[in-house]
Amino acid sequence: MSHVLVIGASRGIGLEFVRQYRADGHRVIATARDAAGVARIEALGAQALKLDVAEPASASGLAWQLDGEKIDVALYVAGVYSTAGATQPPTREEFDRLMHTNVLGAMQAIPQVAPMVEAARGRFVFITSEMGHIAGAGSSFGWTYRVSKAALNMAVASARHDYPQAIFAAMSPGWVRTDMGGPGAPLAVEDSVRAMRPAIQALTPRQSGAFLNYDGEPFAG
Ligand code: NDP
Repeated sequence: MSHVLVIGASRGIGLEFVRQYRADGHRVIATARDAAGVARIEALGAQALKLDVAEPASASGLAWQLDGEKIDVALYVAGVYSTAGATQPPTREEFDRLMHTNVLGAMQAIPQVAPMVEAARGRFVFITSEMGHIAGAGSSFGWTYRVSKAALNMAVASARHDYPQAIFAAMSPGWVRTDMGGPGAPLAVEDSVRAMRPAIQALTPRQSGAFLNYDGEPFAG
């Protein structure tokens, strides 16, 4: 039995990770920022913690709530999206909203959680997006979101040097039918998570810091 932490698990991909890891009998701690999310996590038999990754308190609150647990698999899933392109500058409000949740929240989680992942020689995986693949950028659609996910990829690629006993990865879930992905997305959330779990398990120390697709294949460039 592994010990799994899912940050941002009130719905969508995060909640599906909770569902699948629990179904396989793993011990799961998961976070949500409101009571409805906490209830959905608890209904799956997981322990729920209250956390808004965009709030200043999240910089230390997670470590305090976890209290030195050993974590085999930690997942940072919380994320927000916007579609606007580069023909207009993003507002400061919009930029801050995306960067706080997609980047700062992850950067604040790393020093709190990575030592617990190292203690288990575990894996710390950040759910990113193919839209953060600099070499693959085909348009500016979702400009600020692209910038935030590219920054997340760098946060992961560089932080791993400080935590050599953990395996870090930035993983794209594919285009998934969730509130964010919309009804036209080709991948069911169950299938995205069912593909990512073995890919996470198969990660090797040599791959630490990599940017991978949901099947574990690295993005080129
Ligand atoms: P959803 O919109 O369905 O869920 C987003 C999740 O992030 C919710 O649990 C939400 O919580 C949480 N969240 C947002 N802001 C905060 C915050 N400030 N603090 C804590 N939790 C927060 O999206 P998905 O499940 O589709 O996305 C999950 C991840 O996958 C994201 O990082 C996203 O960028 C990434 N991704 C998704 C793709 C897709 O096609 N769906 C494609 C590529 C990447 P709450 O319910 O409280 O809002």
